[in-house]
Amino acid sequence: MTRLPAALPAGKMPGMTLALPLIPDTAAVSRRAILDVPADDLKAWLADRRQPPMRAKQVRRQLLAARATAFADMTDLPKGLRDDLTEHFTPFGSTVVQHLKSGDDTHKLLVRLADGKLIECVLIQNDARATACVSTQVGCGMGCVFCASGLNGVARNLTAGEIVEQLILLRNLTDPNTTREDRAPRLTHIVVMGMGEPLANLENLLDALAVAGDKDGLGIGQRHVTISTVGLPAKIRKLADADKQYHLAVSLHAPNDELRNRIVPTNVQTGIPDILAAADYYFETTGRQVTYEYVVLGKVNDQPEHAHELVDLLRRRKAFVNLIPWNDVAGLTYRRPTDDDLRGFIDTLRDGGVSVQVRRRKGADIDAACGQLRREAEEKPKNSED
Ligand code: SAH
Repeated sequence: MTRLPAALPAGKMPGMTLALPLIPDTAAVSRRAILDVPADDLKAWLADRRQPPMRAKQVRRQLLAARATAFADMTDLPKGLRDDLTEHFTPFGSTVVQHLKSGDDTHKLLVRLADGKLIECVLIQNDARATACVSTQVGCGMGCVFCASGLNGVARNLTAGEIVEQLILLRNLTDPNTTREDRAPRLTHIVVMGMGEPLANLENLLDALAVAGDKDGLGIGQRHVTISTVGLPAKIRKLADADKQYHLAVSLHAPNDELRNRIVPTNVQTGIPDILAAADYYFETTGRQVTYEYVVLGKVNDQPEHAHELVDLLRRRKAFVNLIPWNDVAGLTYRRPTDDDLRGFIDTLRDGGVSVQVRRRKGADIDAACGQLRREAEEKPKNSED
């Protein structure tokens, strides 16, 4: 029986239950995960067995579109090939080691990668949307002082296959036969807001999103994908030049460099003006309005002078501000804003002509623990993990 880590206080998780892993923990580490086998290698492997290259596409379609979780279930493939695939590859390199489900049908998965490293991903379901929140790195190297994901630095980038596997694991939690009007039968949206800095792993992310967008893949349109970045100007420009319609969210979090340097350490190298110029370029190139995220840290960045400065920065831009009241992180001493401070901040922005909303707290019980499931699990002795 999986147990909840001690750092997740029961009071923060009303209605949360533990469910069984979706895929049995039997993936052999020695076999390669098929989604990470380069297309040419797989075609060569198939050719060795006198199989046409289109078999590679069939396998992908089975995993991505038909919800197969084993080669044996891929009945449009010859039996001998299914056996051969089972012997040489594994359909998934990742296994779910913890599955938390909150009262509002938000699911959070703690996922163990083939090399034993742990990441988190989340499914949020509401208003006939099913949104996958995925990680792009093990840990994070950006060091934002209020965030749990970066407390132990970054271990490595995720492969494209590892990013796609998160999407599949989460998609498999949606109900294809749902008759509820407020539920989607498949994934409809992706937010790249899990662990890691997406633009520090841009190539693999773009490969993964191409699979997600493919009609034979998950069929999620580019305009339904949001990429959230700490603000790496050169990479923002590169993403703009990739000629995609992804929605960009920039984690601004402070209206001046002095404050931003303190809470977002990478700002020392970049600075707000360069980030805004790159974001403007993104808007000019793609036509897509940029969202600015602003984690609201009580008494740190939520005072009237901060709101006025933010208005000055953004007023003349076609921008949108998403306020995220800080979620508690064990061991950190920031606080959430008071209702009055938050209201005053919003009013100042609106009076200044800046569009703003407060991020809705779907699955707030799970959000509160963002990045911490993994930290707890990594600090536990191996044999008590499950
Ligand atoms: N590296 C990316 C993705 C981070 S997660 C980025 O920096 O944008 C998505 C958002 O959640 C970011 O804006 C991040 O700063 C914010 N965030 C991280 N920890 C948080 C916390 N404890 N409470 C509220 N927001 C947090």
